[in-house]
Amino acid sequence: MIRVDAHCHVDLMADPARCVEAAEAARIYTIAVTNAPSVFEHTHALCVGKRYVRAAVGLHPELVHSHGGELGLLVEQLKRTRYVGEVGLDYVTGDTPARSRQRSAFAEIAAACGRAGGRVLSIHSRRAVPDVLAILREASPGTAILHWFSGTRRQVDEAVGIGCFFSVNPAMAASRAGRALLAAMPRDRVVTETDGPFVCIGTRPAGPDDVRGVVQALGELWGATETEAGAAVAHTFKRIVSSCGEPSSNPPTNGLSHA
Ligand code: MN
Repeated sequence: MIRVDAHCHVDLMADPARCVEAAEAARIYTIAVTNAPSVFEHTHALCVGKRYVRAAVGLHPELVHSHGGELGLLVEQLKRTRYVGEVGLDYVTGDTPARSRQRSAFAEIAAACGRAGGRVLSIHSRRAVPDVLAILREASPGTAILHWFSGTRRQVDEAVGIGCFFSVNPAMAASRAGRALLAAMPRDRVVTETDGPFVCIGTRPAGPDDVRGVVQALGELWGATETEAGAAVAHTFKRIVSSCGEPSSNPPTNGLSHA
């Protein structure tokens, strides 16, 4: 069965090349997110010619203070991939200027995605959902996947209203709050992720293969078999991918035929 890991930090795994090969062998569509433009090249090189693993260019909100100067590079790199992440806002910091710098950076990235014709974005929104949604409304950057969503049920509805998808991971599936949010998400807006190596299974960092457990949890929640839940997730991911002009039947390298 085709599986989906819509948010994995392949470059931070113990052996990134092996992680890519394992995902290819197991037919797991993987969005290999990165946290700063200066490290995109490494992951891009690992993904060239791959069928299932795609490199995304990103600027993690918590790195805006140190890597914000790489925004211009990110805009250039948008020409080489249809995938953007990890980007977004993180308001765990109470520092007003820091939050403001995060908003400027994310708004600039979102606007650049819109100008580029739309991208698939994997978005971090911890404690910052209203501002994330405001920026998405303003910029129309393409197809937004809210990764590890931890907002409210009402915010789930608002996000759905502007076309957002959600990627859910083993930590969410294992927590009561995460499952309550999952129950509020329309089934056709949900895909799986691991956020490896940040999410762990026991003490071991999660890798793409661990989406299996998330699919199982979705099946239980949806009253569906694991096969049905997995097929639904794969179908939703194909819709996401084709929303940005990538043929879902035969995805070329990184989603760009000239990449
Ligand atoms: Mn992440």
